[in-house]
Amino acid sequence: MRQHDNHARPDAVLSGGQLAAIATAARVCARPVRLRGWRTVADAVTGEVISAVRSDEQPGGVIEVPCGNRRAAVCPSCAWLYKGDLWQVMAAGLRGGHGIPETVSQHPAVSVTLTAPSFGLVHRGPGRDGQPVRCRPRHDRPVCQHGQPASCGRTHRDGEQLLGQPLCAECFDYAGAVLFNAVVPELWAAFTRALPSAAAREAGISRAVLRSHLRISSGKVIEYQDRGLVHVHAVIRADGPDGAGDDPPPWASADLLKTAALSAASVPSVTLPHPGDSGSMLTLSWGSQADVRAVRRGIGGELNEAKVAAYIAKYASKATEDAGGIPVPIRSAADLAEWNVTPHGWRLITACWQLARREEYADLKLARWAHQYGFGGHFSTRSRRWGVTLTQRRQQRQAWHDSHDGDAGGQVIVLSEWHYAGTGDPPG
Ligand SMILES: [Zn+2]
Ligand SMILES: [Zn+2]
Ligand SMILES: [Zn+2]
Repeated sequence: MRQHDNHARPDAVLSGGQLAAIATAARVCARPVRLRGWRTVADAVTGEVISAVRSDEQPGGVIEVPCGNRRAAVCPSCAWLYKGDLWQVMAAGLRGGHGIPETVSQHPAVSVTLTAPSFGLVHRGPGRDGQPVRCRPRHDRPVCQHGQPASCGRTHRDGEQLLGQPLCAECFDYAGAVLFNAVVPELWAAFTRALPSAAAREAGISRAVLRSHLRISSGKVIEYQDRGLVHVHAVIRADGPDGAGDDPPPWASADLLKTAALSAASVPSVTLPHPGDSGSMLTLSWGSQADVRAVRRGIGGELNEAKVAAYIAKYASKATEDAGGIPVPIRSAADLAEWNVTPHGWRLITACWQLARREEYADLKLARWAHQYGFGGHFSTRSRRWGVTLTQRRQQRQAWHDSHDGDAGGQVIVLSEWHYAGTGDPPG
């Protein structure tokens, strides 16, 4: 079948009697995918047809399936489902369920925020706790070399347009900012590689000894800050050598993970040719404000598992659109005009286009990822040992529908063929 650029896998989605559920989901989906084809389920022993679906028997000759898009700006309904699935996956990795033993809730875990460094002064909103913060107050009211004020002093409300916008766009290092976003996947990989060494150092044992007693698994999600830079929110968990179902050694504590995470956050850096100074190199690393907190167990704890999972899932259906950007790929300045892009977002996007023309940055595919301000990685990932995956979670949801339809049980043969027939409402 023809591949279409979205996350829905129609053949997998259209299993068994999930049709009614699909129809409901497709009705609320903002841009359902239309398919033409058929699917037949037959008893493997007798050959008797159990269920048959043909698109040509449906109104308009097509079957609509939900688009499956993760982003609330593109499809609120599918994004809501995605968010819920991610919550389940993160929470299960912290308190058990979905095939992970409940003993996992005894494993030490910490939440980690890896930040971006500063690329220039921007207007600041309320703090993480929601407390109002005065934006860049300075009594001496300095100005930059372009004659712009280098202080603000106002107290901005959450959601104000000005948040994340630079005090002086000329001073803001746009090339550095998008190059940082582009290397975030590399920095994250380096961070996770550095974790076991840092933990071994802290425990006073060799890396090899650590490996035979302790494994570290992680799940992460990307957040776009108002200033258009990428932060990483992660949960790190200590297990025994066999993963989520295996207890870690008694000396593995949240404090050990915390020290290891802070140390690993300070290690990695990526060097690239300097965008403004040919011949020299630009070194990119995490900002200095890595925030690491223990995930407390039980009800009423400041950071319990459910809250941490919700905190991670919160970012899952968002991206650059919250930072004045665009939720879909763009090709030209004409595309830009169709969206309500802030001047700051516009500069970040054009910085990607400009750098994309230079051979030394070809690997970063900055033109392709310009709408994401240079970041081209996955929005949420979990390490192999996390214990449950988003795919498994989706299959569980599907299995529930199957079991409520009578399709499940007994050996069946499934035959199907589907062709892409468009997106959105059928014409006429
Ligand atoms: Zn949708
Ligand atoms: Zn301000
Ligand atoms: Zn300036």
